[in-house]
Amino acid sequence: MFELHDQTALVTGGAKGIGKGIASVLARAGARVVIGDIDEDAGRATAAEIGGHFVRLDVTRRDDCRAAVAEAVERFGSLEIVCANTGIFPQAALADMTEQDWDTVLDTNLKGTFFTVQAALEPMRRQRYGRIVITSSITGPVTGYPGWSHYGASKAGQLGFMRSAALEVANDGITINAIQPGNVLTGGLEAQGEEYLAQMRATIPLHELALPEDLGHAACFLASREARYITGQTLIVDGGQILPESPDAVP
Ligand code: NAD
Repeated sequence: MFELHDQTALVTGGAKGIGKGIASVLARAGARVVIGDIDEDAGRATAAEIGGHFVRLDVTRRDDCRAAVAEAVERFGSLEIVCANTGIFPQAALADMTEQDWDTVLDTNLKGTFFTVQAALEPMRRQRYGRIVITSSITGPVTGYPGWSHYGASKAGQLGFMRSAALEVANDGITINAIQPGNVLTGGLEAQGEEYLAQMRATIPLHELALPEDLGHAACFLASREARYITGQTLIVDGGQILPESPDAVP
């Protein structure tokens, strides 16, 4: 377990799912965790559960992101870690996809990442230290799935954003990396239905979906002081899902 005492972490979308898994692991590693989420009830409940602090935040609003960062710094005096984790994944077939469908997904997943990371730069540059961890996906950068062309574009876009951003902040002691989850047992994924979940279990070499804390441990590593020489990189956490050349290759 990496040691994060005296460090403050903001986790967006931290009320539920993967964000909650990340927030829990960072808290156990000693960080003061600020959960930023649009869902106040779940956010407050998770903050109480892990001993963190809740701030209401809609990542599609730049002012909300700035205010959440300011509140974290004002309350705890510093901000070392930001996990830009918020994401939504409603399905829409390309032929029927509306401009609104596209904008909602891109605004939350990609613009929300931009707003969150940009807001974190001011305190991190002042401290000359920062660890930013983006939650991307295998869907988009590596794989595809019908109904998720907008989602896949947003998740691949996050990685393109990350690579240039990592160069811009490298002189300030700030690293930016991404985790790429496969299929993780969260409320968002369970909403896809049992048939989808069963299909995924069958194609994953380790034959089970990830737990949110599996992603928390990966994020905790990239957020640690020890990961200081890693920037602009991704860590796939998928139980081997992208390895098989065909379903027959899964034992
Ligand atoms: P989830 O739906 O379980 O949780 C998402 C959280 O984000 C919720 O607490 C929700 O209230 C919050 N949220 C939604 N819109 C918001 C907004 N505008 N501002 C602030 N908070 C907002 O989802 P999850 O499965 O935990 O997914 C989290 C991240 O992981 C996403 O970026 C998603 O793309 C990525 N991901 C998930 C999976 C998976 O299998 N679950 C796989 C790959 C990548």
